[in-house]
Amino acid sequence: MSSHPVEVCDLVMRYGDRTAVDGLTLTVHAGTIAAVLGPNGAGKTTTIETCEGYRRPQSGTVRVLGLDPVRQHRELAPRVGVMLQSGGAWSAIRAEEMLRYVASLHADPVPVPLLIDRLGLDSCGRTPYRRLSGGQQQRLRLAMAVVGRPELLFLDEPSAGLDPQSRKAAWDLVEDLARDGVTIVMTTHYMEEAERLADMVHVIDHGRVLVSGTPAELTSTGARNTIRFHARAGLDTTALSDALPPGYVVVEAIAGTYRVDGDVTPHTLATVTSWCAAQGVMPDDLAVEKHTLEDVFLELTGRDIRHE
Ligand code: ATP
Repeated sequence: MSSHPVEVCDLVMRYGDRTAVDGLTLTVHAGTIAAVLGPNGAGKTTTIETCEGYRRPQSGTVRVLGLDPVRQHRELAPRVGVMLQSGGAWSAIRAEEMLRYVASLHADPVPVPLLIDRLGLDSCGRTPYRRLSGGQQQRLRLAMAVVGRPELLFLDEPSAGLDPQSRKAAWDLVEDLARDGVTIVMTTHYMEEAERLADMVHVIDHGRVLVSGTPAELTSTGARNTIRFHARAGLDTTALSDALPPGYVVVEAIAGTYRVDGDVTPHTLATVTSWCAAQGVMPDDLAVEKHTLEDVFLELTGRDIRHE
């Protein structure tokens, strides 16, 4: 019997000659929220669908609650909640009717009115699924995934397309479930979502895990902070680079936006402002920014996750 709710070892999945998952290994600990983070096409959905038992591993092994998700699907299904990226409901069924139906399949469901209220579905309970807005469908899918009180919950892009208020309701619900001991695996390409919710973040790209760690561990690697400011474009930054201790990098990646990457101390901040004074420029919007998961992704892949 496996000791971890999700264990993926050396998973390889191909579509024709395209390798979607390329030797991916991942362990999720009980009672934690794991975020699988990566750009479009990184292999997140394929990995999670394999864990859900919808795809058979072509190579490698997948164990979920100690079981084989394909061969032991019937045994696993009542214990696992699944929120797919789309679909999952009949097009003509009314929202509340769909949720009541899913609830009826479980031994001890969460009361339907409670979920309807928490996820703000009251106003659309009588609306057919196909007429719901994208955000309403998304919230209904989340309600359907959690109504059976699963031990393990898979969420594929849970807050994609949600407005800020609905996103907060979804995040609060996920946090409450985690507090109750539910293990949660979610895919996302929203850094903010991963930083807010996840105990462990697994950054994946090209079907492989590039790095795993807590948000704090990941953001404390490499350059810790950045000083950013706006000034006249094309300033000669040589004197600033020379004045800073070794290891600091000064870049003007976008004309007129300057960035100093490195461990920001009161001394380095003073060096930057002294240099500005010497140049006779007033730095606009000068800010010290923490290293974010977005920066980590950029450093690991050389690409910006938001523009994939
Ligand atoms: P997204 O964030 O866009 O959902 P993802 O990280 O979930 O992306 P996958 O959906 O797993 O990535 O896709 C991984 C790769 O496999 C992509 O290159 C995708 O085009 C390809 N792919 C996914 N499903 C299929 C399929 N059914 N047939 C062919 N190729 C597929």
